[in-house]
Amino acid sequence: MKSAYNKVDAEIIFKKYPDISQELALRIYTSQLMGSNPHLVLHGGGNTSVKLRQKNILGEEQDVLFVKGSGVDLADITPEGFLELDLAFLIKLRMVKNLNDEEMESQLEIHKLHRSPLNPSVEALLHAFLPAKYIDHTHADSILILTNQSEGADLIRQALGPRVAVLPYTMSGLPLAKAVAAQYEKRPDLEAIVIINHGIFTFGEEAITSYERMIDVVDRAEKYVNQRIQGTSLITPRTDIKIATDEKSLAARLAQIIRGSCAHQGPDGKLRHLIVEYRDTPELLNVSLSQEAPVLCDSGVITPDHVTRTKNKIAYLDYVPEPDDSLKEKVRQIIEDYVKNYRHYFQEQVQAKGLDRKELDPFPRVFLVAGLGLLTLGFSRKEAKIAADIAEHALYAKARAEVLGNYVPITNSHVFDMEYWSLQQRKLSHILPLPPLQGQVALITGAGGAIGLGIADRLLAAGSAVVLSDIDESGTQKARSILKKRHENAEIEIIPFDVTDYHSVETAFDEISRRLGGVDIVVPNAGIAHVAKIEDLDPLKMDQVISVNLKGTFNTIKASIPVFRRQNTGGNIVVISSKNVFDPGAAFGAYSASKAGAHQIAKIAALELAEIGVRVNMVNPDAVFGDEEISSKLWDLVGPDRMRSRGLDYDGLKEYYRNRNLLKAQVLAEHVGNVVVFFAADLTPTTGASFPVDGGIAAAFPR
Ligand SMILES: [Zn+2]
Repeated sequence: MKSAYNKVDAEIIFKKYPDISQELALRIYTSQLMGSNPHLVLHGGGNTSVKLRQKNILGEEQDVLFVKGSGVDLADITPEGFLELDLAFLIKLRMVKNLNDEEMESQLEIHKLHRSPLNPSVEALLHAFLPAKYIDHTHADSILILTNQSEGADLIRQALGPRVAVLPYTMSGLPLAKAVAAQYEKRPDLEAIVIINHGIFTFGEEAITSYERMIDVVDRAEKYVNQRIQGTSLITPRTDIKIATDEKSLAARLAQIIRGSCAHQGPDGKLRHLIVEYRDTPELLNVSLSQEAPVLCDSGVITPDHVTRTKNKIAYLDYVPEPDDSLKEKVRQIIEDYVKNYRHYFQEQVQAKGLDRKELDPFPRVFLVAGLGLLTLGFSRKEAKIAADIAEHALYAKARAEVLGNYVPITNSHVFDMEYWSLQQRKLSHILPLPPLQGQVALITGAGGAIGLGIADRLLAAGSAVVLSDIDESGTQKARSILKKRHENAEIEIIPFDVTDYHSVETAFDEISRRLGGVDIVVPNAGIAHVAKIEDLDPLKMDQVISVNLKGTFNTIKASIPVFRRQNTGGNIVVISSKNVFDPGAAFGAYSASKAGAHQIAKIAALELAEIGVRVNMVNPDAVFGDEEISSKLWDLVGPDRMRSRGLDYDGLKEYYRNRNLLKAQVLAEHVGNVVVFFAADLTPTTGASFPVDGGIAAAFPR
């Protein structure tokens, strides 16, 4: 590991933030350097601080602790990622004997010197008590490989020498802050302090000193570990099992089953859906097929900080049966055992500690699957990815630690303290009130056009992840870039497929499941139009329109059914029908008849899928024009003709359709999207219904 510090990059940060002091700018720069090294920190892990003297609004000098906000990712931290705290006051908290969670949170909250929605890092008091100007803290893999051993303290001394102190595990917060400060005062010559089972703190008067000490110490730990385990293979391959033959499709089915089995009722009584991340790197496949896999999965997190992301234990599937029924049964057993163990751990800890805590959901977040790799879950895709990154690192680190000597897992008591610490739980978004469709996955076909965009826009706003599909790939790319601009952190995937080809649709559902775990909301929206009177209608054209509008809807619904069945958590199909189904127009036979067919298929699906909790409803829009950003393909086609016949320009035509409806309303794509969200949110027990979005057209009232 080498220092990545260089003056030119530091200058870039100075220029980027001209309004902050260079000392703070350097804090941001070296924090980013650490954050971008996955061997030091992963996603929101680790924390940094700097102590500065600043004038307050009255012009009085004040000591300020700038400390990273909890959960903020060091890799792209900005000045807003730091909180400003009243250092003089925080230092005095050292005199307090005990500080419970709520009181510590409250003290940190009321001693902020600048408004910020962030919570201070759980290690804020430690940053306050240690007198050094700059402090850096990580949970570096190689440090943990050494500390999580029966002779951990000795190994750290051997590997890192006399200027690195080692302290036993102490709960983060006031106790750890006091212990670290006392150690530092005894030995001010120290360069770093290592906490068994937790991580490492380095410090210095300059940003570069503290950062480079981190690099230097971690580098020495890495070299020491590598030297000790050199020549030994990390794992012993199993000989009884191989990589699955139909790996890709099996992974898709397994993801759906796992996703469904881990969905659970949230505190508000509503079903919480999770997103699945699937990884099958060669290294992960090797670990999954090793004799050590069960031990590596069962030995828990390498630092308690990870527990809120991955839970303590990894669920291990030692083989994967191919038939659906056996696969479901296998997953059911594994989860049942996992849940039982989790509940036991929770009960044991609350009783031992005499605490009153509400149990978190007992479901696994990480599965290692023999011959398939890793599947992780999160309430958002981001959380699922974080869990995967951490689990991958932890598996390799634990494999190395096992070879090095005698890996000692962290005690349940320590893990519990961190898992049930309110400050730590705040990092997780699922504790907060959630948008209605959080954790759900929606597929929209025909997503390259105006209505598809409007639907995706509203689904994203409601918290769903969306998969855009269209045979017009440039349209979907454009839709994605528009949506990305409108929604920060939008979870958007593009999977192009041809709705007229059943095999292509089926393959797409597999791909969606490998990327996100499955699907909850299916919106068959792909459609084409053709203008011709029956007398002039080319039978081949008729076939084509039927193929997309009717057969495409049928194919999409049909291919989604096995996914819904495996997930076993219900779902919603919302077919984008048309006002023309009730109120057709001349020269529009191909479109109206094929849409009427699709509408009928949707009603049949409503009859057939109710037993598995899947609702099927229809939206019947009329005259949805596109906008400057994305056009409506239907109006691109029929618009010019109608403008000519009515002697109107484009805006005139829009106006004509607006005046045609009862409410004199312009119908927008997002109105269609709102109805999709309404149905998908399960607000009413409704299936088989049609919902007009047309401004009110008496001839098209559903009947
Ligand atoms: Zn830590």
